[in-house]
Amino acid sequence: MKNQVQSIFDLTKPELAVYLQRIGQPRFRVDQIWQWLYRALVNDPDRMYNLPKDLQQRLAEDFIFHPVEEIQQVVSADQRTYKGLFRLQDGQTVEAVLMLYAQRRTVCLSSQVGCAMGCAFCATGQMGFMRNLTVGEIVDQVLCFARRVAAQGEALTNLVFMGMGEPLANYPAVWAAVERFHDPTGFDLGARRMTISTVGLVKGIRKLATESLPVNLAVSLHAPQDTLRQELIPIAGPRYPIAEIMAAVREYIAITNRRVSFEYALMRDKNDSLEQAQDLADLLKGLLCHVNLIPLNPTPGSPWQPTPQPQADAFREVLTRNGIPATMRVRRGIEIQAGCGQLWSKDLKGENSLLQPVLGRKMSPSATG
Ligand code: SF4
Repeated sequence: MKNQVQSIFDLTKPELAVYLQRIGQPRFRVDQIWQWLYRALVNDPDRMYNLPKDLQQRLAEDFIFHPVEEIQQVVSADQRTYKGLFRLQDGQTVEAVLMLYAQRRTVCLSSQVGCAMGCAFCATGQMGFMRNLTVGEIVDQVLCFARRVAAQGEALTNLVFMGMGEPLANYPAVWAAVERFHDPTGFDLGARRMTISTVGLVKGIRKLATESLPVNLAVSLHAPQDTLRQELIPIAGPRYPIAEIMAAVREYIAITNRRVSFEYALMRDKNDSLEQAQDLADLLKGLLCHVNLIPLNPTPGSPWQPTPQPQADAFREVLTRNGIPATMRVRRGIEIQAGCGQLWSKDLKGENSLLQPVLGRKMSPSATG
């Protein structure tokens, strides 16, 4: 009889050790199982061939090995962006995206089912908030993609917490996942290859500054003044005024001496005037920072349109003229709704006709080069 209550990926290594000791297993089994899970990327105890049969059976009885199950897959036309829809144990769903660049294989992962921050231009924000993801659910999204690229002889190189949800609103689970990905005895991904994005939760920014792992911080600003920002981000905007966010960011930089990225989704005639570019430049002047400009990705419920390219270029030019490094983010996976702000987990029953399953379609090996 199965008595599974917990995902194996929820456990830290010391917790796994305690469990194994409790069931009378020798200490070396901890390392064996850890290596299977995070090095060999095996999520089936029956395939952990150096474990005794009774232990394989016990693990299968005691733990869930598939906290997230990939139920839908979709690949962009250029086969460089891949979106997965994952079903959780309680039937909720989240999406995550794999992006293949020349030198990088990046996963954009989710930290919550839905989001409470309410960004009006974001599909996830329009869903509302359902619940936080567990550590195991966050970790397993990445492992699913890691298995996929491993089948092509590749490994993931970067993780960005920019999928569904506000990562700093689920801080304990997100940070536990960061530590899991970083663990040199397991998945072994450098901390600088991970980025946590936030809409500006100041307590979380301050806490991040004190952590020992030097992950990257990205702050979604989207407007240089509070009035406009509160319109674009109606829930989080009023709670976190720009002055408070900037104070937390300055503290963060003073403590860590790390460069902070600011994300700015460019919306036509909304936040993309040259005056607003100058206001943004004035706000960020002297900061160790970088601005990522992202022409808004279309979402069904959003009233705003992306800034046309010439205006976006002119906006960027104002920033660079003022000494603020700024790049135009390459838009990826727009046609499969995998771009920034487009993730929406309601596709399961086909409510969103833009997402069509392409099960069994393989990634092109050239796309991973
Ligand atoms: S943009 Fe990010 S913080 Fe805003 S609603 Fe969407 S997921 Fe939440």
